[in-house]
Amino acid sequence: MSSEELKNETVKKGGISVETAHIFPVIKKWLYSDKDIFIREIVSNASDAVVKLKRLNSLGEISVPEGERFRVTVELDKTAGTITVTDNGIGMTEEELEKYLCSIALSGALDFIQKYEDGKADAGNGIIGHFGLGFYSSFMVSDTVEVDTLSCRGGKAVHWTCVDAGDYEISESDRTERGTSVIMHISEDGREYLDEGKIRSVLDKYCSFMPVDIYFISDEDSEKDYVLADPAAPKEEESSDDAAEGEKKDGPVVIRPVNDTVPLWNRPQSEISDEEYNTFYHKLFNDYDDPLFHIHINADYPLNFKGILYFPKIRTETQSLEGEVKLFYNQVFVADNIKEVLPDYLLMLRGALDCPELPLNVSRSYLQDSAYVKRIAQFIVKKVADKLNSLAMNDREKYEKVYDDIRIFIEYACLREKKFYDRVKDSLLLKLTDGSFKTFDEYLKDAAGDREEKSADENADASADEKKPEGTVYYATDTAMQTQYIRLLNDAGIKVAVFDLMLDSQYLTSIEQNRQGIHFVRVDADISDALKSADGKKADEDMLKKLGELFKKVSGSEKLRVSAEELKNAEVPAVLIIGEQQRRFEDMMKLYSAPGEKLPDMPIDATLTLNTACPVFGRLCGLAESDDTEKTESFAAFVYRLALLAQKKLTAAEMTAFLSDSYRLLGLF
Ligand code: ADP
Repeated sequence: MSSEELKNETVKKGGISVETAHIFPVIKKWLYSDKDIFIREIVSNASDAVVKLKRLNSLGEISVPEGERFRVTVELDKTAGTITVTDNGIGMTEEELEKYLCSIALSGALDFIQKYEDGKADAGNGIIGHFGLGFYSSFMVSDTVEVDTLSCRGGKAVHWTCVDAGDYEISESDRTERGTSVIMHISEDGREYLDEGKIRSVLDKYCSFMPVDIYFISDEDSEKDYVLADPAAPKEEESSDDAAEGEKKDGPVVIRPVNDTVPLWNRPQSEISDEEYNTFYHKLFNDYDDPLFHIHINADYPLNFKGILYFPKIRTETQSLEGEVKLFYNQVFVADNIKEVLPDYLLMLRGALDCPELPLNVSRSYLQDSAYVKRIAQFIVKKVADKLNSLAMNDREKYEKVYDDIRIFIEYACLREKKFYDRVKDSLLLKLTDGSFKTFDEYLKDAAGDREEKSADENADASADEKKPEGTVYYATDTAMQTQYIRLLNDAGIKVAVFDLMLDSQYLTSIEQNRQGIHFVRVDADISDALKSADGKKADEDMLKKLGELFKKVSGSEKLRVSAEELKNAEVPAVLIIGEQQRRFEDMMKLYSAPGEKLPDMPIDATLTLNTACPVFGRLCGLAESDDTEKTESFAAFVYRLALLAQKKLTAAEMTAFLSDSYRLLGLF
């Protein structure tokens, strides 16, 4: 029907389609659980209409009056029971309206019904857009929807009214303003949307970053005089404090947009301060802690997505490590917590990604199967590695500050993916017991340097090695329990790294596998040569044998080996050494055993090293040669338990014995 005919007939009636008589009940029933998105669909159509108009204007196809402000308004009228979304975008001619809102939308709807009836449709969020039903989502909450529109290309303004039984009417409209209003008459099912707070919260969730200013006009506002604030206007116009609160005492109410039309991810990184990144994070996640650092992504063709990811601050090892990535489609919020765009070892990241290549109404199954999404995930992994490397290289101070917090993630990621390890291997840090941090290379070079300095005479021509330094990294798993060992090493100029996380034992093993020439030795697993005096006196073989028998007896362990060394530190009588490999094996067994499961007794690969430099050693030898067995054994037992105490927590029986030894000792003073 031409507009000439329209003028004569004024009202045109139609039925959407016989086959689609049950579209509306299906829309209502199927989408019942996700009604909020009708606001997103109608507001994003309005915002799209404005974006299209701007494009036509910039192409010179139409001309928009100078200084016209583009906007979308969402108006609540509780008395009339309506929500009206108005834009000053391209609008529609009568033909367009019929085509877009009746034929095309409905062929999509038919498709949907077909699949729904065949049981193939994907439940939940993913339906509407796939089937071009965006506009019709308004019927989830309305029994009648009116569209009033005037196209930017001229022609007559048209008015369309559709009831949820599927009948519509088109008539001439007296609208004079270019653009479209969608007036939704809220049904009983949608009553909750006649509440200001509800609409605001849905707008906040879905429309916070849409590219056109969106204003919410409440019932109260429309009763008063109001003005729509121009966020682009110079600040002094709105300088009064009252205005900042959205109220002016004598003057119109100032209504501010509910959205930010240029989200941070669309701005050039060089212009954004750390503070802005943090504020954006607080707003997005309602988390008032600052994130540790951010990664701004701007991937060009063919991936074509933007976003900002944050490493959140995790307060405890037990706190939920699950992050959250919000997905946007051209600044329209699509979904929360999209796990598919991150590999599992980076799931603690939080942030926002804007992927215009994904459909607006993307479903979980689509995300899981999409090759594009997998490429996004790989790209993110690379970006995370690049960021760590750049922090390590260019901002070492900041990197060290956050390293302790991110260590668990980095180690886990290295364990999960060799490629990730390869990317970041030079930026991995060792946290030392003195609180400082070193890369593996720095640690090994320092250690080699110390040795060279100490044996400079013998090794005068040792030249700087170009290839990766090799050597031993000494580490502690419990700095309190292992203090004595740490001190011994520190006194000898050897630094000790801290590896106190559950996954550290696997991490260390994986580093040893990935990097030739590096060995990790727990502080209590070996007496480093550096601890021994260069020309240490050797203990007499017979005596050593005797002492060996003595300590086997007092320890109750036939497997215990006894050795004697002259240590530089003369204070410590004896040190208990547990073999590194044996202990790691036991740690693994513990890690993989079920809670409460009793582990088989392991053969103890322990050596008690007696310190010949300590006066206690002479006393021991004297006693061992005497006839006073009882005294000799109590003395040896005490020395053994002291060594045990420095190595691990005593069992209840060992503690009792140790205490009674100590009480007896008090009597000697
Ligand atoms: P989609 O937005 O996925 O194309 P919809 O059912 O939401 O599907 O909308 C169908 C079409 O109707 C849109 O593509 C657009 O051409 C037209 N349309 C909807 N709302 C507006 C509007 N506010 N202004 C101009 N055109 C609109």
